[in-house]
Amino acid sequence: MPNSKAFVQRITLLVCATCLAISAPLTPPKIIDCHVHHNGSEAFLRQLSAKLLSVQGMALLITAPKDLDQVGIFMRQHPGQLIGLGEIQLDARDVSATIDRFHAAGFRGLGEITKPQYSYDDRRYWPVYERAEKYNMIILFHTGIVNRSNPNVASDVSSDRMRASALDLIARRFPRLTVLGATSAIQITLGPAKWRVGIRTSTSTFQVPR
Ligand SMILES: [Zn+2]
Repeated sequence: MPNSKAFVQRITLLVCATCLAISAPLTPPKIIDCHVHHNGSEAFLRQLSAKLLSVQGMALLITAPKDLDQVGIFMRQHPGQLIGLGEIQLDARDVSATIDRFHAAGFRGLGEITKPQYSYDDRRYWPVYERAEKYNMIILFHTGIVNRSNPNVASDVSSDRMRASALDLIARRFPRLTVLGATSAIQITLGPAKWRVGIRTSTSTFQVPR
């Protein structure tokens, strides 16, 4: 990860603090994967756990609401390995209740957030960020281009609504929120922002520092 020493240090501290909050202190991880999508199967969790154990690693696990109970139980059974990120839809009517459910189940963050109907920094989404900040949660955003799985099917998706630069306002408006930006393609977009406000980047995820 270029320019990532401080980033790794901060993430390490962040995740270790999380471990202390949810489980007994463990050996600090040597590797932290900040972006793992759960596929919903128990076998996946077991394989991930074994891999993390073999490399003294830790992972931020992106979890759909339907898998909340399964992952919540697994996290408690494997303390210090997984940090749960609850997948939410910014435009869902029940997004606040979903955040509450993830928080109550011990999930330390939200994401990966993607495909919004408005720009990430739109004021309509501020109650979501306010709630996450109140819970001291991490938010992982997909930024930049996103796949178009079936070009023959009409969709209401715009990469422009997911600009990395839209995270700037969120970070400024919600100063206690930990903002992570996913995908390496944004590094070009971030160049000027980095110079102005000190945003750090890595190959797959970047963090808006305080
Ligand atoms: Zn992803």
